[in-house]
This record gives sequence, C-alpha cells and structure tokens, in this order.
Amino acid sequence: MTDTEAVLLELTKEPKIAYFSMEIGVHNDIPTYSGGLGVLAGDTIRSSADLKLPLVAVTLLTKKGYFTQDINESGWQVEHPTLWDPAQYMQLLAPRTTVQIGGKDVHVQAWLYNVQSLTGGNIPVFFLDTDIPANSPEDREITSSLYGGDLAYRLKQEIVLGIGGVRILHEMGFEIKKFHMNEGHASLLTLELLNRFKKPIEDVWDEKLVWDKRSVTNLCVFTTHTPVEAGHDKFPYDLVARVMGEIIPISTLQELAGKDNLNLTKLALNLSRYINGVAKKHGEVSKSMFPGYEIHAITNGVHSFTWTSDYFKRLYDEYLPGWANEPEVFVRVGRIPDERLWKAHMEAKNHLVGYIREQTGVEFSPDILTLGFARRATAYKRADLLFRDLDRLERMGSGKLQIVYAGKAHPKDDPGKKLIQNIIQYKERLKGRINIVYLKNYNMDISLKIVSGVDIWMNTPLRPLEASGTSGMKATHNGVMNFSVLDGWWIEGHIEGFTGWSIGPPPNELTPGADADVRDSEDLYNKLEYIILPMYYNDRHTWIRMMQNAIGKNAYYFNTHRMMRRYVTEAYIR
Ligand SMILES: *Cc1c(COP(=O)(O)O)cnc(C)c1O
Repeated sequence: MTDTEAVLLELTKEPKIAYFSMEIGVHNDIPTYSGGLGVLAGDTIRSSADLKLPLVAVTLLTKKGYFTQDINESGWQVEHPTLWDPAQYMQLLAPRTTVQIGGKDVHVQAWLYNVQSLTGGNIPVFFLDTDIPANSPEDREITSSLYGGDLAYRLKQEIVLGIGGVRILHEMGFEIKKFHMNEGHASLLTLELLNRFKKPIEDVWDEKLVWDKRSVTNLCVFTTHTPVEAGHDKFPYDLVARVMGEIIPISTLQELAGKDNLNLTKLALNLSRYINGVAKKHGEVSKSMFPGYEIHAITNGVHSFTWTSDYFKRLYDEYLPGWANEPEVFVRVGRIPDERLWKAHMEAKNHLVGYIREQTGVEFSPDILTLGFARRATAYKRADLLFRDLDRLERMGSGKLQIVYAGKAHPKDDPGKKLIQNIIQYKERLKGRINIVYLKNYNMDISLKIVSGVDIWMNTPLRPLEASGTSGMKATHNGVMNFSVLDGWWIEGHIEGFTGWSIGPPPNELTPGADADVRDSEDLYNKLEYIILPMYYNDRHTWIRMMQNAIGKNAYYFNTHRMMRRYVTEAYIR
C-alpha cells in the first residue's frame, strides 16, 4: 500500500460531512481565496478541526491564485498572477475522476491539505485540479484562476467543483452523510446526486419521479451569502447545453433551477433540506428574496485562535486559560487588569506601526487614534464615505487621527478600483494633517495586523448588502471596537456606547434610502467628533471598559466554534 492509500483508508473509515466551497483560505500563502467567503470557509474548517468534527472539504486549486495587487502611479490597481507551488504544501492523491465539458472528458485530480488542530483534530481539504497532461491545454486552465475568465469559464469551474467533487470523493471511498454548499457555486453537485439516486424507470409511472429529489434533498445543506439578486450565478441554457450537456433532462433542470437561466441559488434552494443565511437580518432578506422557502439563520463567526494577535494570545493564556477551544471563557474578560489589556493593545498597535513604516515609509504614531478599514474594494462597502466632507474631517482630525486602508478590487470591478484611486487621492490631499496609508495585497496576515493594531474598526456598507461581515469580529477578539453601519452581524453585536458605535439609523428598512450617503456620513462625523475622539483622548477608563465589552460580549459569541456547533445541531444531524 502506498502512503496516500494508507492516508485515504484512514480518512474513509467513518461517514463524513462534505463541505464544498469555491474558495477556501486555509493558509495565508495558499492564494485560493479572495475575501470573506474564503476566509469564513477556512475558519469553518479550523474550528471543525479543533472540535474534531467528521468533516472533509472540497475546493479548487486555482494555481494562479486570485491575483497579486499592484497600484500604479495614478492610483489604479494592476493585477498579476500569483504563482505558487501546491507540492510545497500538499500531497497529490492517486484517485482521479472525469467530468464531461464541451462533449469531452476532462480529467480531475485532487491534492490533499491537512488542517491540523492543537487538539489533535484534523480536517482534510481536497483541492481539485485539471492541470493534467491528459487534458487539452484549454481544459488544463479550468482550475487556474479564482473568479477569472468569462461565464463559460465560471460554469466549467463549477462543473469541476460540484460534479467532479462528488465523483472524486466517491472514487476515494468516502461515505458522505451531508453535502454542505457554501454559497451557490457548488450547487451542481445536486445534479450528480440526482443521477446517483435515479430510480429504475419501470418502478414508476411518471417519468419525472425517476429523479428521487427527496433523497438528494435530505443530503443537502445550503448556506446563501448574497443579499442581492444580481449576485447569484446564472447561466443561459444554450451555454449550459454547450458546456455541460444534458446531465439531467433539460425540463427537469428548468423546473429545479429556473425557466430562463440555470440559477445556481435556485437549484440549491430546491434541493436542500436545510437552508440558511449568514446573519439574522440576512436570513430575513433572503426570505423576502426567495419567498416560499424556509430559510434559517446561523450568524457567522471567526476562528478565535487564528484572529487573535500574539499579544492577546499571551494575555488570554494567562487570565482566561482554555479560551481558544472554548471562546465562552471570554465571559470572564473582567479578570484582565486594565493596564495589561492596554499594554497588549499598545504592543499590537506598535507592531502595526512598524509594518506600516516598513511597507510605505510613513511614520504612524502609536499615540494617535487609529481607524482601520480593510476589505474587498467594491462599491457597496463605500470605503470613501469618510471623505464626503473633507474640510470637516480635516478640522476634527488634524493631528488627532490616522487611518489604515487595504483591500483588492475584483479585476473587472472598475467602480471598486475607482474607490481605491479616490482614497489614494484623498491621502495625498490630507498629507501632513491626517496620515493615511493604503496597504497593498490585503491577505490574512495583513488582516490580522490591521484588525489587532488599530483602535477602531470601521465598516460603512450600504444596507442591506453586508450579509454578515466578519472582519469586525476579528477586531473584537483583539479588544478593538466596531464603529459601523447597522447591517449584517453588527445588528446583533452592537450595544451603543458599550460594545462600540453605530453609523446611521437603526436597521428597519430592507432597502437603503436615496439619502443614505448623506445621512450615514453625518452620523459618522458627529460620533467621531463628539464622542469617539474625546473619549479616546480624555477618558481612557471608559475606553478600556468598552474594549473589555468587545471581547466579553462580541468575541464571546461571534466565533466559528459557536457557529459550527449550531451547524451540527441544526443542519447536519437533522
Ligand atoms: C476577514 C477577511 C475578509 C472579510 O472582511 P469583511 O469585512 O467581512 O468583508 C476579507 N479578506 C481578508 C483577507 C480577510 O482576512
């Protein structure tokens, strides 16, 4: 028996939950993630490893990664492929499978990456790869770049992920008791399952019943992440016919996935026993988008150990032993003396200040109130809202405020790139009065440095477009308060003046008003000027109380350990 055969024999001993995600951030330097969705998938797997859950994960290898970000002299983002070597981190497995694309067989292989926990738990992640000599040069590129290419390219990737994923798990000998689709990208897996549960035709009188939907539905769990209709993957049926062929009869497919287009979200909704949104509000928004479906909500979390800086890890180890595998222990955060909490924060802040100096040459001061904003650069996140009234910002912030930005725009998202360019122009305009930096190549390592090293974490999405958001949860693990629009998770985590501050009105309406920018920026300026700046400089005692609350109320709850326990009890064992 070869090494990998022995590994697979061990892994396939008991039935598993198979977690499918187009992107997974398992490791900072494995560039198979673009943002929140992939980092959430990674955190899901890390908590599952800690909790020793019987789970395996499936994703694509994306050998050219998402991309490496450069910003040219005019402030415009330029992309380069991120080349990396899977063999440095992963083990190529022997079992292979094929999927049919454009009428041809495309061979698919898998690389194994183990996410290992200090508890002894281990979750295997299978990275699917079509870069095999037996495939045509074009097909070898199918698993090259994350969210790259055109609609046909995307469909091919989703065939490899969904259909190829189910087949290769089968080839490896797994018995799967639940398929969890993290977003609609993976939902073609349901078609493969329908084929597997096909009943012999002579058993039934109605041809449609050949498709045993109930057996498939019982196996599937679907988490939707996208609160806008336009964000869901849809493919015209002529493209589907050309690329995927007729995996199941087109009339059945139309019944399940939409009359005019193959809508992957609809397909997943129609074939999943358990469906959920990623925060309570997002659950409601999803219900109104998809009437007639029972949609639950399990609010996202972050992996506590991954998203806590070394400085806070040491502090927690001393005062809250066991916190990493039982984040509920944060309830006793009051045991940490104020001066120790502040000292750990200043260490994290100094670390960020050093990183900023090294990357940009700009000298930040550890004694100045520092705001952080880092996430995908895309229009609805309104990264430039803070600059709506430049004079006012300058008046209140001169010498008293500094700001760190980071984030990539999708290569085809020109409005997102424009946002980056705007911020870089504002940075020049405010130079010498308010220091601002835009850090390149936002990734998990940089994220941890920023969320732990700033004083305030800011988020300004246009409601209701932030399904959950997770970076704010990372901040709370480091005693950093949120100052954000009441959308996504923050609706559940926010207690005004206690865990942080809101921006704009309470989240009562489902669609934003036309005056949202004016209204939200007014509130942002008022709170910054009259509440946050004065408290930071004049009332350190209350400030540190709020840092404690961020940990004891927010980090306590918004972690993937709590989230996974809920997936197990509410979705997986049903
Ligand atoms: C956490 C994280 C995100 C998600 O940030 P949001 O504010 O929730 O959108 C995106 N990218 C990276 C690299 C992250 O670490």
